[in-house]
Amino acid sequence: MKGIVTKSTGSWYTVFYNEKEVVECRLKGKFRIKGIKSTNPVAVGDFVSFEFEEGKETGVINEILDRKNYIIRKSVNLSKQTHIIAANIDIAFLVVTIDNPPTFPGFIDRFLATAEAYSIKAVLLFNKLDSYNDEQLEKLAILDDIYTEIGYQCLAISATKNIGIDEVQELMKGKTTMFSGHSGVGKSTLINAIEPNLNLKTAQVSKQHKQGMHTTTFAEMFKLSFGGFIIDTPGIKGFGVVDFEPEEITDYFPEFFRLKSNCKFGNCKHINEPKCAIKEAVENGEIAYSRYNSYLQIIEGDEEHYRTDIYS
Ligand code: GDP
Ligand code: ZN
Repeated sequence: MKGIVTKSTGSWYTVFYNEKEVVECRLKGKFRIKGIKSTNPVAVGDFVSFEFEEGKETGVINEILDRKNYIIRKSVNLSKQTHIIAANIDIAFLVVTIDNPPTFPGFIDRFLATAEAYSIKAVLLFNKLDSYNDEQLEKLAILDDIYTEIGYQCLAISATKNIGIDEVQELMKGKTTMFSGHSGVGKSTLINAIEPNLNLKTAQVSKQHKQGMHTTTFAEMFKLSFGGFIIDTPGIKGFGVVDFEPEEITDYFPEFFRLKSNCKFGNCKHINEPKCAIKEAVENGEIAYSRYNSYLQIIEGDEEHYRTDIYS
């Protein structure tokens, strides 16, 4: 039988199957996943095949189907092992606010680059649309243009005034999705507007700041009444951090990737090199200056200045 793992405690896995049933399963024998050294062989979102144990109501997982993607967290202790937080994510939503609190382009770009690195489709939700003044609406329009232009879907919504919630639900229908964003952007309000009474930990934990960051927490997935699953990831605000190799960053900025073969040098880092197609595109306005700035910050390993307030 086939099912999807919705919860894991480390030794028992809750498997959802037949559209509505659940069974608690254990793992059969030793599981090794090619190429990933992780503390947990099976994660939330994994599609598995399982069978019932004879004469029992519990099951045994005997196969994990290929993952389309997965997100990990590196262990903070010396073992350097990774922990797979969740697998097979269809959409990662980033909830963004222009102000209260500000979400700066550098943060958005890091999130999007990480989503690209993980091969996860990302969608931007600009929340609190009801509260923006003209200046904030202008910033929103600039960001909407920048990200729509390079292929990311953007929705301007209001979780409290019920603007755009239908569209978010439509995107989530039948899919496995997750929500990230700074504390205070309205994640819990939004999730509550989408599906009341879920009470996810995603938002709650982010409010406690650092607390709980280093405890071993497992993600959990909840079935949505209109179809699909939402992933709850206690202890992490977003994806966690990917260690980008400098030469691969260009691949995670789609509009850079499309142009990079036009650079004079094959190993161009798009910083000081002559005849650089990326820098030319920034100069003639084809690539947004804020995107280039974010690229430079990532390549320089600058964790401090991503708050730079650039909207152009
Ligand atoms: P979280 O930390 O991301 O989960 O954010 P919350 O859902 O707790 O929201 C933080 C604050 O923003 C609360 O006071 C919400 O009422 C408010 N808020 C959330 N969504 C909206 C919105 O669409 N418009 C306005 N004006 N306020 C909102
Ligand atoms: Zn270049």
